[in-house]
Order: sequence, then C-alpha cells, then structure tokens
Amino acid sequence: MLEGGNSYEGGCLCGAIRYRVTGPSLFESQCCCRDCQKATGTGHTTIVGVMRDQLEMAAEPKVYTNTGESGGWVSRHFCGDCGGRLYTSGSLPGEVIMIQAGSLDNPSQVTPQNVIYGKDAVSWDHFDPALTVYDLYAPR
Ligand SMILES: [Zn+2]
Ligand SMILES: [Zn+2]
Repeated sequence: MLEGGNSYEGGCLCGAIRYRVTGPSLFESQCCCRDCQKATGTGHTTIVGVMRDQLEMAAEPKVYTNTGESGGWVSRHFCGDCGGRLYTSGSLPGEVIMIQAGSLDNPSQVTPQNVIYGKDAVSWDHFDPALTVYDLYAPR
C-alpha cells in the first residue's frame, strides 16, 4: 500500500496536469497486458487502484478509449501536450480507477503486490520474485 500518508500528488511530464489522491489505495499491481505495453511502449505499467472520488484533477486530460481483452471498455487519460499518462478508468466494478504509478511525485511510495496479465509478460521484463504472477486478473 502507498506509504507516506493518505494524500499523495502527481502529474504529467510537462506539469500542465496535476492531481491529488486522498485515501488509501485498493491495490497496486504490475500489468503486462498488450494494451499497457502498446500504450507505454515498454513491458508493463504499474498501477495503483483507487476509487474515482478519491482523485482530484486540476485540468482535463485527453482520453483514449478502446475495448480491452476482457471485453470491457478501457479509457486511458493522458496529457495532450506531453503525452504523460495519468490514469486509466474502465468498466470495473465500484468506480475503481488506476493511477499510473510513474506519474506520482514520489513513485517509491508504491509497493506492487502482484503481476497481472502475466501471460503477456516479455522475457526481458523482470519482477520481484516474491510477487505472485497471475495469467489474467488477481482475484479480489
Ligand atoms: Zn503534460
Ligand atoms: Zn494492462
């Protein structure tokens, strides 16, 4: 879980979009799905699950929406100026959204609990061997 209190901030690369999250995270995972690979240009993305109403955005990000492998819709929110990724929302139960851990001002606060979509992990991407690797989603 996020260390350093119940409020944390982040933003995009250029600084045009800032955000604040209040309250504890629900989960922290490494996602290796093909869409995360395509969207980030690397092997996985690190996500922090929070409730939608825990996130305060200081500006409107751009949004790209497609249908994920699960069949549900996924919207990726990013800065239209620098392309920095901020969070992902989708057809998850209970208005859960996923902050991109690298956009936090202190990404070392994050402690991933598991690896999801491990079936798509690439051989050159390495994880803490203590983490459980799930083929798809982790059970909740
Ligand atoms: Zn930006
Ligand atoms: Zn993913």
